[in-house]
Amino acid sequence: MSYLSTLTTDAAFARYEAVRGRLPETAFPARSDHLKSLAEVADRVDAFVLDAFGVLNVGQTPIPGAVERMAQLRAMGKKLVVLTNAASDTRAAALRKYHRLGFDFSADEVVASRDVCAARLDTHLTTGRWGAISTEIDTFADFDADVVRWTAQTQPQVDGFLILSSAAMDTATYTALRYALTDQARPLLVANPDIVAPRETGLSCEPGFFAHQLADEAGIAPHFFGKPFGNAFDDVKKKLSGIAPDRIAMVGDTLHTDILGARAAGLKSVLITSFGLFAGCDVTPYINRSGIVPDIICPIT
Ligand SMILES: [Mg+2]
Repeated sequence: MSYLSTLTTDAAFARYEAVRGRLPETAFPARSDHLKSLAEVADRVDAFVLDAFGVLNVGQTPIPGAVERMAQLRAMGKKLVVLTNAASDTRAAALRKYHRLGFDFSADEVVASRDVCAARLDTHLTTGRWGAISTEIDTFADFDADVVRWTAQTQPQVDGFLILSSAAMDTATYTALRYALTDQARPLLVANPDIVAPRETGLSCEPGFFAHQLADEAGIAPHFFGKPFGNAFDDVKKKLSGIAPDRIAMVGDTLHTDILGARAAGLKSVLITSFGLFAGCDVTPYINRSGIVPDIICPIT
């Protein structure tokens, strides 16, 4: 498998269920409320936390009506925060992308799992060098640590590994990383826990996919940063201090990251079904099989 491989919704769902033991545990409501869009959710909450892929955009394309909805929610006085598991790009690059798509978010309104990870590196390695599986153009300038790009060809000596992007993940890189981790135990930090992401071409394999496979095959315990893990929601709550968690809606397209993470953090969970992971599918069997029941289901953002 490589970044270019795509999974079906069924395969992605099965994989998330298979790794459920590595995800947070929480309780869910007995049933969901069905509403038309986030406009109807607005009078139940004071803030919206928005997943990007599947809620605001699919790949490089904005979801129809999402730009207008954000403007509408803002006009109603709602606080907005984007919480994305994207770790390939810096937050500045992510922000430029949102602006290119037509959104007006400020830097202070974005929590990226890359930053969630970067802020916690020293709890895993106080000194030493990190080897990053990253895009070719990553300079790691936003990391306050010694980080070098690590590839199957270069394999620099490092004290820990970061998976920031699956864009460079291929069989050679995966195999080299697996051997390196088996050869010498070192921390493996994963800045994007997602198994898949919706792109124009289908569901791409993301860092979480490869990290869980490494955990299965090499018996290592990766450290995940981003949804559904508490570290990402801790950073969001800091931005929304003063608002009670149950007056914050987490809006996402995946059960095992957005909805599970929101519930574990005490936030209201809203599943968007027309775009992203469950686009074109009836989501009910997936909810029944996983037991991950959103508070609210909306077809569109
Ligand atoms: Mg998503």
